[in-house]
Amino acid sequence: MFPPSTRRLLALAVALPSLVCAGFVPLHDFHDHSPSPTIAKHLPPGTKWYHPRDHPAHRLFARQATNNSTGSFPSVGSPAWSAAYPTTTPDSSQLPQAWVNALNEAVQAGKIPNIPPSTLVNGNPTYPSGYDPLGSQVCSGTYKCRNPDDIWDAPEGILGSGFDDGPTEFSPTLYSFLKNNSVKATHFMIGINILWNPTAFEQAYVTNGDDIAVHTYTHPYMTTLSNIDLVAQFGWTMQILYDSTAGKVPRYWRPPYGDTDERVRAIALEVFGLTTIVWNQDTEDWSLTTGGTTMQAINQSMTQWLTGTKSPGLIILEHELSAESVQAYMDAYPVMIQNGWKLQSVSEIQDGQPFRSDGGILDVNDSVGATSSTTSSSATSSSSSTSASSSHPASTTGTSSTLRSSATGTVGATHQSSAGSRWPISSALLACVAGLFFTLA
Ligand SMILES: [Zn+2]
Repeated sequence: MFPPSTRRLLALAVALPSLVCAGFVPLHDFHDHSPSPTIAKHLPPGTKWYHPRDHPAHRLFARQATNNSTGSFPSVGSPAWSAAYPTTTPDSSQLPQAWVNALNEAVQAGKIPNIPPSTLVNGNPTYPSGYDPLGSQVCSGTYKCRNPDDIWDAPEGILGSGFDDGPTEFSPTLYSFLKNNSVKATHFMIGINILWNPTAFEQAYVTNGDDIAVHTYTHPYMTTLSNIDLVAQFGWTMQILYDSTAGKVPRYWRPPYGDTDERVRAIALEVFGLTTIVWNQDTEDWSLTTGGTTMQAINQSMTQWLTGTKSPGLIILEHELSAESVQAYMDAYPVMIQNGWKLQSVSEIQDGQPFRSDGGILDVNDSVGATSSTTSSSATSSSSSTSASSSHPASTTGTSSTLRSSATGTVGATHQSSAGSRWPISSALLACVAGLFFTLA
């Protein structure tokens, strides 16, 4: 129904691919792939938003520290740090060999379903004839197919706190509010937004001690990408997170627009060890600035959900994309508390049960190479009855120096990809156009 991410198109139009992979060295084979869903279900639950140090995915991101003699990571926001990451859609022809090898091994091992990428037809990811998006072979999240290994619901009585598309210029207000109210949240971050907003990233990660998850590098419809382009989107987001957290490898990702399928899920999990977290309610707060929903409509929806059934619990799609979306959360917060919801970060939810325990593995200040407990992660999840909207915002940040110089370098565009969308096409198109102007404002 609409075009893909406005920002991505702009990026493709105006930006030169620029990869500066300072210090990368080809790594050896990546034999121990991330836990398969079958295996993971039998492992003890993990304890953190990131994998333990002995998880094989670490091999993809560990590198010889050539930036200084101490082997430490460059300071977040420093020139050496900034120079190490793509400033636009990552160039998949210039990836670290370890990532390419890991993909090739997973494909050769038969772990990556051989289904074609979708193509955007009137803005909707569409598969070739013979590939049913609701069938088990494809199982598209856009079409509301629930893979049982994805996380859609929270346990009874629990509200999973999570925010997409940060860090942005509007994030600090949210982060301060969360900290002042002792709310632990998961931030599904866009890689390039971290690059443009390092101070806000540090506030979420260091000051708040919040959980960080992957929301891709430039926020594309992931099912439209080739295998190697998927590797680029996952890999670079995880690399900037790894380098910015003294070597932590995140365990979770959320697909932009909720757009995932069996191939994308498999690459996320088998190559990178990422489990998919979706949502079961959508405020559509991403459209507040583009003529979509209104604060009143969000308040009504929130009141309905928060005063309704607690089984299953709630995972509400919310954003740190605009002042308005942040305000919508802050307005709803008292209602959450008044109605007795237990708030947890989304990444504390696993297999229908909260998994955070006292068995911490690493602290924020842990150094690279520290040994950890052998606690293994689990990739299981529950799947239950609450319907999910597949509408979802798009947001990327400045993907070129030109775009970066506009506003503050972090902008969002709105879209909706769902085949079962609740939004009129005309409104959505209007929102996209409005989003473009907003982006360039
Ligand atoms: Zn998003």
